[in-house]
Amino acid sequence: MKRSINAVYPGSFDPITNGHIYIAERAAALFDEVVVSVLLNPQKKAAFSVEERKAMAREALSHLPNVKVDSFSGLLVDFLRQEQSRIIIRGLRALSDFEYEFQLALMNRQLAPEIETLFIVTEARYSYLSSHAVKEIYQFGGAVHEMVPPGVFRRLRERFPLPRNILP
Ligand code: ADP
Repeated sequence: MKRSINAVYPGSFDPITNGHIYIAERAAALFDEVVVSVLLNPQKKAAFSVEERKAMAREALSHLPNVKVDSFSGLLVDFLRQEQSRIIIRGLRALSDFEYEFQLALMNRQLAPEIETLFIVTEARYSYLSSHAVKEIYQFGGAVHEMVPPGVFRRLRERFPLPRNILP
């Protein structure tokens, strides 16, 4: 019997961007199931609640039938064990991501040696894209509609109404 293999793609997704969607699509093509998991981190001030982030991710990933969206708090490796997964997916944009991601991967290996972190390299057009940049650019009136899915753009407009003279 063929064993089904699932992977977890964790992150803040505050909010989900086209760069995240690209990584989820690549992962969905490799594994039977991918769980995009929104991290609930009370230390980190988020623009959107976990429920809002999940709703935006679900909408943006609805074209991928083997991707589900969930959330977790606490240790990522505990969430993987709960999901019976042994694969963490992370995206790499640039060399600057590497040091942080490397540390995180080693830490998770220390905590759970059976779990593997797999990195998927982004596409050049998303290499500058982050949730932080989207929020910052949006609030200064920059055009972000090509960086995020339509549902995220709508929610950004609801959350951060802009002055009349600035139209993103
Ligand atoms: P974090 O809160 O750890 O920075 P994010 O929620 O921003 O994580 O992102 C989750 C994962 O998606 C990370 O591995 C991050 O490197 C990756 N990622 C974010 N933006 C992009 C992008 N534009 N292209 C590829 N991967 C990305």
